[in-house]
Amino acid sequence: MLQGKTALVTGSTSGIGLGMALALAKQGAKVMLNGFGDVDGAIAQVRATGAEVAYHGADMSKPAEIEAMMRECSAKLGGPDILVNNAGIQHVATVEDFPVERWDAIIAINLSSAFHTMRLALPAMKQRGWGRVINIASAHGLVASAGKSAYVAAKHGIVGLTKASALECATSGVTVNAICPGWVLTPLVQKQIDARAAAAGIPVAEAERALLGEKQPSLRFTTPEQLAELAVFLCSAAAGNVLGVAWAMDGGWTAQ
Ligand code: NAD
Repeated sequence: MLQGKTALVTGSTSGIGLGMALALAKQGAKVMLNGFGDVDGAIAQVRATGAEVAYHGADMSKPAEIEAMMRECSAKLGGPDILVNNAGIQHVATVEDFPVERWDAIIAINLSSAFHTMRLALPAMKQRGWGRVINIASAHGLVASAGKSAYVAAKHGIVGLTKASALECATSGVTVNAICPGWVLTPLVQKQIDARAAAAGIPVAEAERALLGEKQPSLRFTTPEQLAELAVFLCSAAAGNVLGVAWAMDGGWTAQ
């Protein structure tokens, strides 16, 4: 379905981003990966689909590095025709205890990076008359939790950015949408489960059940593969008139 298209997925060395990259590659897209950690493992997994793969290690808190990544994507693979803004971090503390440096990092990585990739990718998408921007927001883009002020602010912000830019793109053949996952068992959430287990002195499995029980009525994690199928749908012709939505896949979290 996506032969001849190039997808750039930020933060695609693990978790949801890697799931997105794999699913888009399986649909025939060329893929540019980004992120830290097990870079070689991620490249090997995506390459095993038969897709053409490139990687750029831009730190998504640094606009100049984002610009370099966008230039390299166009030069090496063309596009991007599909842009998945996924890189994200978390920090949990009350507002009064929130380290200023963590606030700035979360806003930069979880929100401003999407502004930078979009401002650089949208002109060529509009010129070609086709493009897909998929912003990975969160249930926390729709509702809040205590202790997550920076994350909730950034995720509400990215939902707003999605809506505004969707309107700007409305007649161009480019769509901009957000996906709002509930709990997904990735390294980002595993850290929160481990912290919860340590704080309460309970086994990790019990902390996992408590985390789900508190927010997610299905009591099941959403998987990166399920989210990636939604991204593939948003890239399809059937989704050509889906514009500016914040699509929850959260086991009922935000229906409550
Ligand atoms: P993860 O920690 O598994 O992956 C995060 C990715 O971002 C990694 O590839 C990491 O290397 C990359 N990254 C982090 N900082 C970066 C930086 N400065 N520059 C470039 N890359 C950077 O986390 P995940 O759970 O897969 O999260 C992916 C996205 O999904 C995030 O935006 C997160 O907020 C969102 N999300 C996750 C959940 C969940 O339950 N896991 C729920 C809702 C939304």
